[in-house]
Amino acid sequence: MDWKGANDKMKLILPIPVQKAIDQLQKAGYAAYAVGGCVRDHVLGKTPHDYDICTAAVPEKMQEIFKNERTVETGIKHGTLTVIMDHMPLEITTFRQDGEYLDGRHPETVQFTPRVEDDLSRRDFTINAMAYAPDAGIIDPFGGQQDCKAKIIRCVGEAERRFREDALRILRALRFSARLGFEIEEKTARAIHDLKHTLQKVSRERIAAEWTGLLQGSYAMQILLEYADVLLETMPEFSDLAENADQWQEALACLKYLPGDDMLHWAALLQHLAKTPEASAEAALQALKGLRMSAKMQEGVSVLAKWSRAEIAPGNMQEMLMHLGKEYLEKLLLLQRANALAAGMDEAEIQNAYRENSEKLAALLAENACYSLAQLQVNGRDLAALGFRGAEIGERLHALLLSVVRGEIANEKDALLKMAEEGKRK
Ligand code: ATP
Ligand code: MG
Repeated sequence: MDWKGANDKMKLILPIPVQKAIDQLQKAGYAAYAVGGCVRDHVLGKTPHDYDICTAAVPEKMQEIFKNERTVETGIKHGTLTVIMDHMPLEITTFRQDGEYLDGRHPETVQFTPRVEDDLSRRDFTINAMAYAPDAGIIDPFGGQQDCKAKIIRCVGEAERRFREDALRILRALRFSARLGFEIEEKTARAIHDLKHTLQKVSRERIAAEWTGLLQGSYAMQILLEYADVLLETMPEFSDLAENADQWQEALACLKYLPGDDMLHWAALLQHLAKTPEASAEAALQALKGLRMSAKMQEGVSVLAKWSRAEIAPGNMQEMLMHLGKEYLEKLLLLQRANALAAGMDEAEIQNAYRENSEKLAALLAENACYSLAQLQVNGRDLAALGFRGAEIGERLHALLLSVVRGEIANEKDALLKMAEEGKRK
């Protein structure tokens, strides 16, 4: 914890631009605080990745106060102005009180309020509902510091009501728990299970972003095991997996052996959705399509799901390179290593196999080994000149490429043409 001074007021060390913005607002006569995630991170002794400020000043006042700074009208209607203070973008938001929530996601109205406590009371969890200013110390009406210490995620107010207001908070709770390793308090946990169906009201893009964030957490496995019903609610593709507990556990166990790569995390989660590689790839594709994930993510994860059980060794690396390409094959080696570690196989052996495979792959790439039609020393025109027609040309080129990657023939024009012609006579 960053603190100094002998009095009981906790002192956090804020970055100078944050300090300056708070000062300017206070000098103009308006209360102002650092708020939310940055205060939580400070209390936890972590470095915040950004700073939000809240204030009693309404946006028009803020624009006056910061007329010498560059500002961006991020969400003036909702009270948010971004101020670029000494190159640091700061989101400054007027204290708000939310009106009624009717759609299970957004308040009908937003009201400005002069009281910071009102603003804190609309925030999701106690650990996120703290504000800080150097003169006032930490404003913590809901016991956020205590919950930080006890490592607890707890809704501000009544959990069920808060999740009914905004169902996204269900996934936020799981994400914070997976990231911080905090226990979800009992009533909050029960409300999550009971209200999981309300996630249908949340946009699939938001759901995808929360799951992606959760998968990055060091405690993702524990949360996904405990809240598999919530995952199933957002991805029906998991329905069969619930019956296959061992495989599910193993897929999750591999997460912690992966580097921080979203595509690999999703591939780990979705690799065993079905019995055959092809069916798994298809199920993974449908799951990500359902969440409106990018085409790139859909492609990569389904390729990885398809090949996750393939036997790979230096001897068939060039062929694997043909099937997957460089980027996905590198990821597949990492996924297979994580799977093997999760399965409890001998670690030295696993690391050794990984190193040998990586080195072989690097060597093939360094020597510009042929693994694609573009690199093959014959092309469609060459085969047309030999008398091949239509679909035959493509088939023949693929057969030649396969012979090259399997080391049965060199990637040389004469040899390839000869082989093609022999095939034709058959
Ligand atoms: P992170 O480190 O992931 O950015 P954060 O706490 O800063 O964590 P944000 O999504 O950036 O999370 O939100 C900033 C703050 O706004 C939160 O700390 C919380 O106080 C409040 N907040 C965000 N989303 C909600 C929500 N859906 N309901 C209530 N309060 C919310
Ligand atoms: Mg944040």
